[in-house]
Amino acid sequence: MNDRDSTGCEEPAAAALRPPRRHGLGTTAVHAATAPGRVQGACVTPIFQAATFAFEGTEDGYHAVRYTRCNNNPTQLALAAQLAALEGAEAALPLASGMAAISSTLLHLLEPGAHVLVPSSTYGGTHDLLASLLRRWGVSASAVGPDSGPREWEAMLQPGKTRVFYVEALSNPLVQIMDLRAVVAFARRHGLVSIIDATFTTPLNLRPLELGFDVVLHSATKYLSGHSDVIAGVVAGSSELVEGVKATANLLGPSIDPHAAFLVSRGLRTLALRVVRQNSNALELARFLARSPKVLRVHHPGLEASPYHQRAQALFANGGCGGVFSFELADGVDAAETLLKGLRLALVAPSLGGVETLVTRPATTSHAGLSPSEREAAGISDGLIRVAVGIEDTADLLADFGTALAGV
Ligand SMILES: *Cc1c(COP(=O)(O)O)cnc(C)c1O
Repeated sequence: MNDRDSTGCEEPAAAALRPPRRHGLGTTAVHAATAPGRVQGACVTPIFQAATFAFEGTEDGYHAVRYTRCNNNPTQLALAAQLAALEGAEAALPLASGMAAISSTLLHLLEPGAHVLVPSSTYGGTHDLLASLLRRWGVSASAVGPDSGPREWEAMLQPGKTRVFYVEALSNPLVQIMDLRAVVAFARRHGLVSIIDATFTTPLNLRPLELGFDVVLHSATKYLSGHSDVIAGVVAGSSELVEGVKATANLLGPSIDPHAAFLVSRGLRTLALRVVRQNSNALELARFLARSPKVLRVHHPGLEASPYHQRAQALFANGGCGGVFSFELADGVDAAETLLKGLRLALVAPSLGGVETLVTRPATTSHAGLSPSEREAAGISDGLIRVAVGIEDTADLLADFGTALAGV
């Protein structure tokens, strides 16, 4: 073995990115990080905190240059292998943020004049990307509702222009679920690239590539890293697609720093444990709140009463719906503010997917940019509270919310 093999510095072939045989996701999360090769026998891939590397190739020209902006640093490649294995993808590309993954993917796939189908409730950054920057570059978008179907989508198609059907696995903050199988079938029938932002479901709860999606995106800032201490994103799909996005990202420059890549890789090792706990914490807390006479409505697709319950059962592995849900109190905004002030464990903060429970009132945070009537049209009342549960003991979470509710 020469040095390059033992440091895993050679860019691994797509086949080597996949685990040799199919293990469970918990096992894959632990072992895939060292799949490209162990360095000096270390059980974790070290942080190659290096911007550049000695030039060894002569024939490959530019492709032989190893430079961290070009996403071929060994720490970046080890994380790419781990992510591809978890997603069951031919290839994956970690980048500096979820928005870097989303913008690099859309800029790779679209050109002036192109048109996109996108959910009406899409993540704020994605909405703004399409509504401002991409619009300036001549890309247009049509908004599809959570309960829409092929008939509505057909009416929005712009033949020869519509290129991408972009969806999210669960909407924020009402956790609605689109008919994802119908999205894939429609995209195939009309030659569209199907893209799903699966940040809320993780590879544990949803298997988008097995459903037939072409591209999976994540904000790895959330569940994948899992500790609210790093900003990162990922694109996964076919080698051809990922290579194309990588070429675009290499020009835009949002490569992931090796230290951030290391943190995501470390977080991923415990993904399976964390998500199982968050699935059950969120469902238990949602059931607890639904029993209170002070609570008007709970939005959680794991509840039998949810209009999205059937879809969740059909699409999500073991019915796991993730750690995010929302609810409304009977007494509206003032009661919601009192409840937030009464919480001792749960922290009032945006974001989700970390080990600690976070709560927000979307009308004042993620959806503050909408007018009250736009929020109402989207079903987001001013008193709505979003909960992103962590991995605390379930009994402690129920007690925290119980105490806060008693003070309302
Ligand atoms: C947070 C988030 C993003 C953006 O990710 P960043 O890492 O903050 O850039 C995109 N999509 C969803 C669903 C998110 O929750």
